[in-house]
Amino acid sequence: MAPALIELRDIVKSYPSGGTPVRVLHGITLAIREGEFVAIVGQSGSGKSTLMNILGCLDKPSSGEYLFAGRDVARLDADALAALRRGTFGFIFQRYNLIGNETAAENVEIPAVYAGMARRERSARARALLERLGLRDRVDYRPTQLSGGQQQRVSIARALMNGGRVILADEPTGALDTKSGREVMAQLHELHRAGHTIILITHDHTVASEAERVIQLRDGEVVDDRRTAPARAPAPAPQPAAPSATRTSLLPDVIEAVKMALRSLRTNLFRTVLTLLGIIIGVGAVIAMLALGDGSKAQVLSRIEAMGTDLLVVRPGARNVRTRDESAALVAEDAEAIGELPNVRESVGEHARGVTVRYGENDYVTLGTGATANYARARNWSTARGTFFSDADVRGVAPVAVLGKTVVDNLFRRGENPVGRYVLINNIPFQVIGVLAPKGANSSGTDMDDTILMPLSTARMRLFGRNYVRVITVQVADMEQVEETEAAIAALLTERHRKVDFQIRNNASLMETASETQNTMTMLLGSIAAISLLVGGIGVMNIMLVSVTERIREIGIRMATGARMLHILLQFMTEALVVCSVGGAIGVAGGLAAAWVAGRLGSPVVFSLPPVAMAFGSAFLIGLLFGFLPARRAARMDPVTALATE
Ligand code: ADP
Ligand code: MG
Repeated sequence: MAPALIELRDIVKSYPSGGTPVRVLHGITLAIREGEFVAIVGQSGSGKSTLMNILGCLDKPSSGEYLFAGRDVARLDADALAALRRGTFGFIFQRYNLIGNETAAENVEIPAVYAGMARRERSARARALLERLGLRDRVDYRPTQLSGGQQQRVSIARALMNGGRVILADEPTGALDTKSGREVMAQLHELHRAGHTIILITHDHTVASEAERVIQLRDGEVVDDRRTAPARAPAPAPQPAAPSATRTSLLPDVIEAVKMALRSLRTNLFRTVLTLLGIIIGVGAVIAMLALGDGSKAQVLSRIEAMGTDLLVVRPGARNVRTRDESAALVAEDAEAIGELPNVRESVGEHARGVTVRYGENDYVTLGTGATANYARARNWSTARGTFFSDADVRGVAPVAVLGKTVVDNLFRRGENPVGRYVLINNIPFQVIGVLAPKGANSSGTDMDDTILMPLSTARMRLFGRNYVRVITVQVADMEQVEETEAAIAALLTERHRKVDFQIRNNASLMETASETQNTMTMLLGSIAAISLLVGGIGVMNIMLVSVTERIREIGIRMATGARMLHILLQFMTEALVVCSVGGAIGVAGGLAAAWVAGRLGSPVVFSLPPVAMAFGSAFLIGLLFGFLPARRAARMDPVTALATE
């Protein structure tokens, strides 16, 4: 006599029900040898399925011992149990329990996926099994496209995928018509002949009588155990087909999980697209907003920079005080005195007013600025044509002018060289000696090229007739000491005027302020976008929770066919990650495209890698974070409860 493969000793199972637990199995003791064909028969509710779940290691007894091949099953942890399930047991259920969105072949492959069999080997074996069960031309059909009998044959193939040393069939013919039922029974006989141990559970005595041993169960107790046929010498036990999975790498599992995720996401395409949309909009918004924010910052800063960052600008009039004669406060001599201070490179007195320029038939109103010759250096102007006026011109009150590009464009024909021509400024003739290289608009949007420059002395005597200056521009040598210089100028002017009737503006600090303002703006835009990304993430979690709830049965099937908790966790995490990564990638493309379009429409944009990396990274992180909860819920599910769920 062969030793017992399965040995139950006084197995008790009770379910908690209100206060007192309800006993379903009352001390079952039995032994099943390798290669036996056993039927467990009993009325509905007698505890057959409960017993089968315990035999198949899907469930644990409340008390008693279960030895499998001499090993105490109670000592195995969850993963070792999963390994035992997938390597030894093959389940056949009354309701087939196939996964709806997978083909027949894919369903058959599942136990091998979890056992770590290589894809090609697995696929070939699944096809061979289906062929053996007469489903050669149905391998790519989905369960809904198959009849009940065909579905049950697919589930038999699945039970055999990893060898199926012990086949546990719970009412396998219960949902089938007589003919299909007979076919399934014939297949079980064939498997028995091939050496498989068959445990058939049924309420039907005629079906049970086909087995060589019938165990009768009543109210959770064995009431009869008889042999109907002499025990045959068992055929050699079928060898497990699966490799004894000793892999340590998780990579194949991850690849499988990604494939499964894509398949399941495709099944719910519309829902997937809606979920994606949340992430796409979030990521796209972050990228577009940051590109626009950075662009506007760069533009403002470059405009301030164009005005010169090493400048202090002194204007008449005390801050917040309106004096009647504020324009008379600064004089050319103030500028000269400031020029003598340490750390001052240039000090330029200027006086600007609206003037009318005429050349031939053309009149044009612009800003005429009288300044000293160092104006060009201090204000960072250069000439595109001709020259700037010199100290000699200032001393000699020369009637010469340098024109900005806008003025040239308005007075002269295209291509005409203004240098050497005479223009009338407020009806006084001036000779054009140079044209300024264009600068464009400044930070407040004023066209800086809409100007005429001339010696301060000439402007004062010929045009404006007064001795004061409206602005003194001070170029600082060492910006590190700009504050000391500013204080020195203030002290000097206060001493000269005996009151504070001037203001000093610092372009560098203006730039700092502008930069801060712009950063705040960018932060604001970015955080609004980030919130929409978060909302997208919550959407992902919501949909994943729905998905887990919908697929409880699938989770049960996967666990019954040998999935470990890690596999289930991985599968659902991967689904969330795939959604977020795909959404992130599309969002990056969309955000960049939106920013590009905005750039085309005239908004300044700056593209840089950090926002892209940050937005995509956040999407990925959101997948990880918001996918974990639903995935953990799935992985912690009890296989028996999961399988019982409708
Ligand atoms: P059978 O398969 O023989 O019809 P089951 O093993 O499914 O019987 O059920 C046996 C008894 O255990 C039934 O009375 C049933 O109500 C009870 N039972 C089964 N599963 C549970 C459960 N999860 N919780 C509480 N009672 C259960
Ligand atoms: Mg049952």
